[in-house]
Amino acid sequence: MSLKKLITVMTVFFLLSLPVLNAQEAAEEKKEDPLKNFSIVEETQPVPENLKVGFESITAKDAVTYLKFISSDLLQGRDTATPGYEIAAEYVASMFELWGIKPAGAMTRPRMASPFAAPAAPQKTGRSYFQTIPLRETIETDSKAIIEWQKGAQKKSRAFVANQDYSYGRMFGGGTSSFTAPVVFVGYGIQEKSLNLDDYKNLDVKGKIVMMLSETPGKDDPESPFNKGEMKAKYYPQRQMMRRMTSPKSALAKKLGAVAILQVENSPQTNGDVAQRVVSSRRINDERPIFPGTRRRLSLIQGKTQAMPWDTIPTIRISREMADAILGYVDQDTESLKGKIETTLKSHSMVLSGVSFTLATKAKTKLVSSRNVLGYIEGTDPELKNELIVIGAHLDHLGQRGDYIFNGADDNGSGSAAVMEVAQAFAKNPLKPKRSVVFALWTGEEKGLLGSYYYVANPTMADKKIANNINLDMVSRTYTKERLQRMGRMMGELPEGFIDKIDIKKLTRGSYDANVPEFGEMLKANNQYVGLHLQLNPSKEPSGGSDHFPFAMAKIPYVYFMAAMTEDYHQPSDSVEKTSPELMEKIFRLTYLMANSIANK
Ligand SMILES: [Zn+2]
Repeated sequence: MSLKKLITVMTVFFLLSLPVLNAQEAAEEKKEDPLKNFSIVEETQPVPENLKVGFESITAKDAVTYLKFISSDLLQGRDTATPGYEIAAEYVASMFELWGIKPAGAMTRPRMASPFAAPAAPQKTGRSYFQTIPLRETIETDSKAIIEWQKGAQKKSRAFVANQDYSYGRMFGGGTSSFTAPVVFVGYGIQEKSLNLDDYKNLDVKGKIVMMLSETPGKDDPESPFNKGEMKAKYYPQRQMMRRMTSPKSALAKKLGAVAILQVENSPQTNGDVAQRVVSSRRINDERPIFPGTRRRLSLIQGKTQAMPWDTIPTIRISREMADAILGYVDQDTESLKGKIETTLKSHSMVLSGVSFTLATKAKTKLVSSRNVLGYIEGTDPELKNELIVIGAHLDHLGQRGDYIFNGADDNGSGSAAVMEVAQAFAKNPLKPKRSVVFALWTGEEKGLLGSYYYVANPTMADKKIANNINLDMVSRTYTKERLQRMGRMMGELPEGFIDKIDIKKLTRGSYDANVPEFGEMLKANNQYVGLHLQLNPSKEPSGGSDHFPFAMAKIPYVYFMAAMTEDYHQPSDSVEKTSPELMEKIFRLTYLMANSIANK
């Protein structure tokens, strides 16, 4: 994720953390019967005759065909408000038109006639397939970090270079901003009663910047208490996405009132070179790489989005060299402090007397826009057709960083292909639903659910009621045995042989609003025709990592499909070859049946 800002990283962590948390919640509640939330179907039933045409029109081959185009290099990673995204949007709209899906976007305005042209036939106005969303683009153009030291009349300062001495993922403030605060060294930034270790003991870090070593003491020592049992699970959760979201160290710093973290690179191989570490660590590890480059942020001009759970304390990663320069003002250095902490497992925290840190950034702002794609099938019931079942998926992805294209085949080419395929199934099936069904491709999800938020706040067919949302995000990848076992462990005690009953090639998760238990029943009933190994996940708190969230916030009940999270998540390696056409076919078919059940209930 080379040039990407942390908000994307945070999206990663956030997305991955939700299913886990929900699974844990669900496991706690349903401890007595873990099977209750699974629907495992081996032999499928023949699909009802009146949905057969639509159902059978959904094929693995179609899914892959759409996905190949959407995730091709031509589209350059479909970043919001870029030509690549626009190509994807036009492609979907063309297919909708081809299949006879009606436009459900904004009304088109007649074009102004040229005074020099011959009078033309009056132009027809009507709906388009698009909803244009005005956005503010903020690009950070400059970032400077300065360390100052002052003692009486003595004063020293040193400036550092972004992406060489330090790096951070998330833009600070709204762009052009500056902040200065005193620095406190807090060792590893850990409070563990059981180890009698408190790096914050007798320290007031309120309003200050805490400087801490990354990871935990004795990272490479298997005998370190942090590499065992509960402690390991706490500081090194298995799920990559949870790692930053729920990082106990940054949560603690935030709780104690620190304003930012200076995180010292702990890895000895990359001493003093943040940029090198960042570039060489392409593969996912416990501290995800953030690639240096342009920082671009998009936000809605009208309407506000929810505060995102990834809005945690800002973390600036600094090189060993920069850390030593800071500690040098008080005659300390990183390696010896680190050594003392590791050998004694005692706090060596200290106020860095007279030391302050300033980060000053500059940004330029301009107005841009991007588009949701919206089509619909009108309901047949004279009353119920005024209710909309919105089937949506985000079409945008992370774009391109340097030479790397983030094709986003699974995230979320797969969900986009699902919406397309389900739309064509509705168009082909002779029996139409009672309620109207909207097919939506959202823009700006990776930038903070911008497209779906905008739609919920500014519905295009305002005379109709949005009744339900079905969201698909990452529905093409199969679980690995390891991931399944991990999931099993999280669910507590499972009946003997239960894990062996689950076919990882068919495993997916269907989350839904716990206030609508009927959705669970519908998912089970429809799975009889599809044969997924479906984990049902009723969720009391709307999980906020994807486009069902704005609907949930507006009290619109949702169903949300997601398959396996993989190492390719938000990496250039998320490519079409790795997707499972068979899994997609099953999930898309289940989506089609679910949409019919909801639209006809
Ligand atoms: Zn996604």
